[in-house]
Amino acid sequence: MADILSYSFDEYVKMVTSFHGSAAPGVLIGGYMVDLAYRNLSKGELYDVICESTKCLPDAVQLLTPCTIGNQWLKIIDVGRYALTFYEKESGVGVRVYLDWTLLDKCPGIRDWYLKLALKSNQNKDKILQEIKEFGTDILSIENVVVKINSYDKTKKSSSVSICPSCNEAYRTSDGPICPVCKSKIIPCSFIKDLSSCQSYKS
Ligand code: ZN
Repeated sequence: MADILSYSFDEYVKMVTSFHGSAAPGVLIGGYMVDLAYRNLSKGELYDVICESTKCLPDAVQLLTPCTIGNQWLKIIDVGRYALTFYEKESGVGVRVYLDWTLLDKCPGIRDWYLKLALKSNQNKDKILQEIKEFGTDILSIENVVVKINSYDKTKKSSSVSICPSCNEAYRTSDGPICPVCKSKIIPCSFIKDLSSCQSYKS
């Protein structure tokens, strides 16, 4: 019996374990979120996805849809909500599916995991997985949305390339006269260009 798109729950657990490293509740619930969204979208259209959490949920999208971080059809806006929005690329019309805490009284394992009401060491993972399998999409809510398609992403994609006068690397011209890393130190690394001077790289 198919539970999540064309997969049974047990098949999907195996896929998640292989891809994500463990059968994390968040990726399993994410599978049902993708399934519910797909059942409420017209077939044959091209959809992009906005994921509102960096944790677990993007992996469900990458496992089950053509949308990945790398092809930019999956965008993560990390506002810490457990929600996925699927929208048609040109019109922005779509659906938003979210894990609805008001529906969780019937599954205390999922409720305590999601709302962090119990310490992780006191949570029974088998019980949580059993509840996920039993309730499937019954813990989710769905709403219609229209996503504003702005020019921001298009600007990023079509920008020409400049060479940064500070680090001498290529970057997007639209980011300004020097690259964003040199401008605001947003990458938390100290860079050592000459590997021969770096002890850990010496053979
Ligand atoms: Zn630079």
